[in-house]
Amino acid sequence: MLRIAVAGVAGRMGKTLVQAVAERGDLARVSAGTTLADDAQASMDIGLIAGLGESGVRASLSLHDCLSEFDVLIDFTSPGATLGNLALCAANGKAMVIGTTGFTAEQKQQISQAATRIPVVFAPNMSVGVNVSLRLLDLAARALGDDVDIEIVEAHHRHKKDAPSGTALRMGEVIADALGRDLDEVAVYGREGIGEERDRKTIGFATIRGGDVVGDHTVIFAGNGERLEITHKASSRMTFASGAVRAALWLENRAAGLYSIDDVLSLSETD
Ligand code: NAP
Repeated sequence: MLRIAVAGVAGRMGKTLVQAVAERGDLARVSAGTTLADDAQASMDIGLIAGLGESGVRASLSLHDCLSEFDVLIDFTSPGATLGNLALCAANGKAMVIGTTGFTAEQKQQISQAATRIPVVFAPNMSVGVNVSLRLLDLAARALGDDVDIEIVEAHHRHKKDAPSGTALRMGEVIADALGRDLDEVAVYGREGIGEERDRKTIGFATIRGGDVVGDHTVIFAGNGERLEITHKASSRMTFASGAVRAALWLENRAAGLYSIDDVLSLSETD
């Protein structure tokens, strides 16, 4: 049975991940987890933190303390914490599923580097629906791209720290790649005041933060006389957690390398 560690078990995704592993009790179990030392639930039983029954596994204050207890680490925390865990996993031959968002280009490079030593699945969105929508966006961009204005609108709960979301940026990358544009050059993040009229080559991003929205993304392809909108709405964090657990199971006995959720879902061109 696969032994899974969950980083940041007291977080929104951390708790949901523990629940998602419990649902795959035939194949995997949560054998370790971490919280920060100043967390109200530090060192508590992981099952109780997740609102399940007692699991007999206490949360550790550092990944270093539970390194011998797991095969794969699932990490949905913050960029700094994830990179620290990545260094430990790379040095100790542990596979990793990274769902954290908000990395800089340089930090993403560090993830690629570590993946030369261990297998890593890295995806800003682990839901099947979002990853299918990336396929639809590629298709729509190729068919409509230079004749339409493209805008990406995303909404998330009030606690989300990074903006735009990692998923919105990934959507922008997929569209820019399909159109032979460089997202760094064409992205426009929010608008204000009096400016010039819209340049068709740009890809606009708008961010909404509020309440308990789990995650909505809409990409608008606006032309003359018609508008195509591709929307994904997540109504439960379980969709992300189930995808991450599926990725962890898929990583078992996998060679070192950087894998996307497409690889896990067999959506890659090469499959
Ligand atoms: P959250 O509720 O703030 O959870 C993060 C947790 O990690 C918090 O409990 C935090 O503790 C803990 N943490 C931070 N550093 C730690 C460390 N060094 N050791 C142990 N625990 C640590 O946030 P969330 O909503 O779960 O989201 C977490 C990340 O996942 C974000 O980057 C988010 O964008 C991403 N996400 C990705 C997907 C996907 O499908 N890929 C889906 C949803 C969310 P404190 O609260 O004490 O700081």
